[in-house]
Amino acid sequence: MSRLLNVLPRRPQGTASVCKSCSDRLSPPAIRHFSISSGAFTKTLQRPHAISTASSRFFSTTAVHLAKGHSNRELLPSAPARTRFAPSPTGYLHLGSLRTALFNYLLAKRTGGQFLLRIEDTDQKRLVPDAEQRLCDDLKWAGVQWDEGPQVGGPYGPYKQSERTPLYQKHAQELVNSKAAFRCFCSSTAQAPVDVDASLVGSAIGGCHSDCASIPLEESAERARSEKHAIRFGKPDKAPSWSDLVYGKVSLESKKTLPQRAAVEGVILLKGDGTPTYHLANVIDDHYMKITHVIRGTEWMSSTPLHAALYNAFGWTPPAFAHVGLLTDKDQAKLSKRNFDTDIGALKTKHGILPESLANFLSLLGWRNPTRDDVLEMNKLVELFDLKFTKGNSIVSFDKLWYLQKNHAKIIIERAMQSSTSDPSFETLVGLIESSARTAYPQSEAASGSLDLKTHIMNILFIDSKTYENPTSYVERNAYFFTTLPPISPSTESSISTSDLHDAALELMSKINTSSVSLNTSTDYAQVKQRLDSAVEEYSRAIGDERSKEWSKALHRYLREKLCFGRPGPGSSQVMAVLGYEECMKRLEM
Ligand SMILES: [Zn+2]
Repeated sequence: MSRLLNVLPRRPQGTASVCKSCSDRLSPPAIRHFSISSGAFTKTLQRPHAISTASSRFFSTTAVHLAKGHSNRELLPSAPARTRFAPSPTGYLHLGSLRTALFNYLLAKRTGGQFLLRIEDTDQKRLVPDAEQRLCDDLKWAGVQWDEGPQVGGPYGPYKQSERTPLYQKHAQELVNSKAAFRCFCSSTAQAPVDVDASLVGSAIGGCHSDCASIPLEESAERARSEKHAIRFGKPDKAPSWSDLVYGKVSLESKKTLPQRAAVEGVILLKGDGTPTYHLANVIDDHYMKITHVIRGTEWMSSTPLHAALYNAFGWTPPAFAHVGLLTDKDQAKLSKRNFDTDIGALKTKHGILPESLANFLSLLGWRNPTRDDVLEMNKLVELFDLKFTKGNSIVSFDKLWYLQKNHAKIIIERAMQSSTSDPSFETLVGLIESSARTAYPQSEAASGSLDLKTHIMNILFIDSKTYENPTSYVERNAYFFTTLPPISPSTESSISTSDLHDAALELMSKINTSSVSLNTSTDYAQVKQRLDSAVEEYSRAIGDERSKEWSKALHRYLREKLCFGRPGPGSSQVMAVLGYEECMKRLEM
């Protein structure tokens, strides 16, 4: 089990923290969609070539069939792609949804197209008040900035579904008029009679048990004036199919009528209150917003036949779909709030994950990086991105995240060292460590002498740039820069007495700390190191050739014991420069 899995707290079940699109699929009926006969969810995850499209309760043998041998997948569209991310503000951004957003963003940027953000807030009852703001904040934080959508506008708005209801109603009506859909007057709470034809209980959402599809259009229109009704999809003219950019040609099993009807027919498009279901709104919006490509998780494949059928019914060209595997833990169970806290807010604030690391980490989950170097910044990802996805699910290993985190922190620190202007990524990193240091060492400013804590942390990062995994571990590793630790007993390896070493160390300090190389102001670590080395050498040589090596070794060790309390870390000269003269003297006298 990775460290992150161990430290991440588990959410209590039942809290609304997953976006609608995902929570819909996490709900028990949606999970059953992926069951094959009595097979467990985890088994079917390993078999993306045969996915059930309907509730196994009724249609356990249903399968979407994926064509074999489709090797001519396009790696990139020939024209600029318009892509979208369409979260529901019923929960916060999590790993899976951020990866979906990132892939769509990268495709748009790679092809010179546009990336849209659309808020799917039709389920008003489940809205979480601050979710939309948080979604926007977290996307921006991760570097996934949208070209059209809330806050920025665009030519195809509004970009919130709750503001587009008349459009959905108009199109649902058109489907009724063309007999592609029908009005259903059955009460959503009424139980279907036990002898009803099971094929008519076509939807997991409810059930039309009165064969409303056979009501003549005029009669249906008349009843609609006074009776509450929903609009359901009818029986499609032809079996829906689509060409998937990952899986090739996908179609419903053509010989079995029942599953076709089950997957599509009877599904509610417009609810009794006049608001659309996700499926209708999604298809209409993608069409009107001119979306060309939809990259989404394979959990959507059970819904895609319906979406394909809706495009057929409207006479519209569907976007190209690419279904990418799910994110799972090492036991092949889907990552979700049930087994893992994947909330982006928690990853960034509680665990100090850098946006650069997270975007890089997620990009590698399902996309085939064509290069050997996995450490990729966003501009590099844009440059390299294509539609070459791995089939099947991606196991999330957090060891990789820590590896990327170390590398991105190093890149950020080294860039900041070479730049005279402030860098937002470096500021973020410093802020994370500062907050952790203040919590761990409330008196920490005392250890940084005359410098403020922020500057002190910058100096620490400059001399220890390769070990940052998260702020807590970094501050713990570098504890002696923030506070004094219990003194350790001097080593007895050498025959040189502690008091002799102590006197020598004090003499070294005065030789190193001169007006030209003040330990309180110098950040020229090479110069300080040179001073220290030559002072140690000079001192050792004065002792006599036969003992000079022993003196040199013992002096270095003594400084380390006194200044760093025996802890590992950057070289002594760098430590001295960061601690400053007074603090070093104080520690030598301890
Ligand atoms: Zn009905």
